[in-house]
Amino acid sequence: MKIPFFSLDQQHQTIWAELDKAIARVLKKSQFVLGEEVLSFEKEFAFFQNTKHCVSVANGLDALFISLKALGIDKGDEVIVPSHTFVATWLAVSRAGATPVPVEVDPACFTINTLLIEQAITNRTKAIIPVNLYGHPCRLDEILKLAIKYQLFVVEDNAQAHGALYDGKMTGSWGHINATSFYPTKNLGALGDGGAITTDNSMFGQFAGSFRNYGSLEKDSHELLGINSRLDEMQAAILRIKLQHLEERNNQRRKNASLYFEQLKNVGDIILPPNLDEKCLPVYHLFVIQANHRDRLKNYLGERGVGTAIHYPTPIHLQEAYKNLGYMKGSLPVAERLSETVLSLPIWPGLGKEQIEFICNCVKDFFKS
Ligand SMILES: *Cc1c(COP(=O)(O)O)cnc(C)c1O
Repeated sequence: MKIPFFSLDQQHQTIWAELDKAIARVLKKSQFVLGEEVLSFEKEFAFFQNTKHCVSVANGLDALFISLKALGIDKGDEVIVPSHTFVATWLAVSRAGATPVPVEVDPACFTINTLLIEQAITNRTKAIIPVNLYGHPCRLDEILKLAIKYQLFVVEDNAQAHGALYDGKMTGSWGHINATSFYPTKNLGALGDGGAITTDNSMFGQFAGSFRNYGSLEKDSHELLGINSRLDEMQAAILRIKLQHLEERNNQRRKNASLYFEQLKNVGDIILPPNLDEKCLPVYHLFVIQANHRDRLKNYLGERGVGTAIHYPTPIHLQEAYKNLGYMKGSLPVAERLSETVLSLPIWPGLGKEQIEFICNCVKDFFKS
C-alpha cells in the first residue's frame, strides 16, 4: 500500500464539476481582481466566522502583517508569539518592524502556554499572537483576560484551524483582529495562494481594506502607504465552493483522528495529540504524534510506503534568519525538543479506514521490532 502524506485528489474529484463551473464563470465575466466573487466570498467568510468584517488578501503572511499594521504596531514594539509555530507568525512581526518575543508552548497541546505569557510582557509589548496550531484551539479566554489586564491586542493566527471551536465560539473570531491563510493544504485551501483578515472592529476592517489595495478605498485617492495584496476572483470563486464543503471535510478529519486515537493508544512511547474536550473542538489540520525515535519511525514508515512530515524540524529561534535575536541552543527547550520528536501522520479528508489501520499497524510493528 502506498499512502501519501497529503493528497487533494479525492477532495477535488468530488467537486470537480462545481469548480469547473466557477472557473468558467470568472473567465466569462473577465474581471479578475476585486470583483463580485471577492465581495461575495468576504461576506460568506465573515458569516462563517461570525465576525462583522472580512478582508481577503493575497496570503496568510500578508494577513498577519496587515493585521499588525492595522493595530499600529511598529518599530520598537514587542509582540508575543509561540516558540513553536510556522515561521510566518514571527515573520509578520519582523516585517512590521517589531520584535517577536517567543513564549514556550505547552507540549501536550502545542499551543502557547498561557501560564508563561505574563512574565514575557514588558512596557513595549503591544500584542499577543496565539496560533491555533495543527487545528487545536489555544486557551483563548485566558489569553483575552491577560490582554485586558495589560491592555494588549490579540491577533489570532487561525491559518491551521478553519472551523475549530473554543467554548462554542469559532477560532478566528476571538482576537481584536484575526488572520488566516488559504494555502492549498490548509483545511480551507484555494488552488493557489490566498488569505483573509476578520474583525468586528470597523476601523481595523477599513484599514485592511485600504492597505491591501495601495492604501486606497476609492479610485485615485490614497490615504495610506499601502501595498498590493489581494485575493483574485478565480481563487475567491473556488473558495466559495470549498467553504460550503468545509464542515463535511472537517468531520472526515475528525473521524480519521478518532481512528488514530483508538488504535495508537498505549503504543510504544508515543504521545498522542490533544483530543477534543469540553472546551476545544479541534479540526485536525495535522495529526501530530511525539516519539523519542522519531527519525527512525519516520524512515520505517517511509520504507512501507507511508508518507509523513515534520512540522517543524528547525525551531524558529535557531533559524539563520533570526540569528540577530541572539537565541542559542537551549534558549527555548520545549520548542527544541518538539522539533526533534514531532511527526505528522496522514489525516487528509478522503483517507480511508483501511489506510489508517495500515498506518497504525506499521507504527505498532515498529515498536515491536
Ligand atoms: C500557513 C501558515 C501561515 C502563512 O500562510 P501563507 O498563506 O502560506 O502565507 C501563517 N501561520 C500559520 C500557523 C500557517 O500555518
